Amino acid sequence: MPRAGIVTVVGKPNAGKSTLLNRIVGEKLAIVSEKPQSTRDRVVGIRTTDQVQMVVLDTPGLLNPKYELHRAMRTTALRALADADVIVYLADATERVPPSLETAADLTTPPRAPVLTVLNKSDALRPVERQELTEAVPGARFISALTGEGVDALLDELGVALPESPFLYPEDEISTASVRFFVAELVRETALEQLDEEVPYSLACVVEEFREEQTPVYIRTVLYVERDSQKRILIGTGGQRIRDIGRASRTKVEQLVGSPVYLDLWVKVLPNWRKSDSALRRFGYRQQDDPSA
Ligand code: GDP
Ligand code: MG
Repeated sequence: MPRAGIVTVVGKPNAGKSTLLNRIVGEKLAIVSEKPQSTRDRVVGIRTTDQVQMVVLDTPGLLNPKYELHRAMRTTALRALADADVIVYLADATERVPPSLETAADLTTPPRAPVLTVLNKSDALRPVERQELTEAVPGARFISALTGEGVDALLDELGVALPESPFLYPEDEISTASVRFFVAELVRETALEQLDEEVPYSLACVVEEFREEQTPVYIRTVLYVERDSQKRILIGTGGQRIRDIGRASRTKVEQLVGSPVYLDLWVKVLPNWRKSDSALRRFGYRQQDDPSA
């Protein structure tokens, strides 16, 4: 019997989540069919090998310091924890001993699923530091998402932690709806790479048009911010920054889509969108059917 289930990844910004996810999911970036269970959470990737399928969920914003999460966003992140079969709590080992997940995420009860505390950036540790951490954080796994050290062992361990189950997703099913989602995530992430602290939590990205019957594929994408000042930052002097973001995003989006892309990139101001239920729904932070959110 194969194994299949949900791996939820949680960690502070800069812990190395994206780097690790890239290693876990790699080229097979999640392209997920529109099934009820796939729209409930934020699926960021699916790793399917012969005998194991991992559906990887993200918990955006959950551990961001000083970031007041909208209740709906927190609900979604907490559900990704609650739905997990196993949780990867990723911490930057160079920041020394991490708080427990319960403390970091302000949980009232521990999650149901086992939590693997994974200390990343082991390549940057001196042996004595590693030794200290080994003693201070019992059961911690050391990895380097950058070099790959320890990642195979972690994947084996995750596989074993999943229940015996048929695969949850067919191996090569593609839906435009989820490609849109991943394009939006790629563009948002690319924009964040080029910005400082002032904008990040106010930034959302939506693919508003996706025409794949033509070459290049036409994709109209809108970056939403909350204030005019943020829009100016995003656009940059003479439009330089938004052009850079567009160019870098297009390269990544072409890899995802597998064909040339014309990326039509816009910036719009939507004041206080983080407090707007309809905007949160539109940006995928909240489900239509969620009365608690
Ligand atoms: P995220 O914010 O959690 O998604 O973190 P990223 O994956 O974007 O990584 C944040 C920074 O840490 C980047 O500069 C990465 O190159 C770096 N990084 C990630 N993993 C490792 C690692 O294993 N070793 C080292 N030395 N740097 C890493
Ligand atoms: Mg990241």
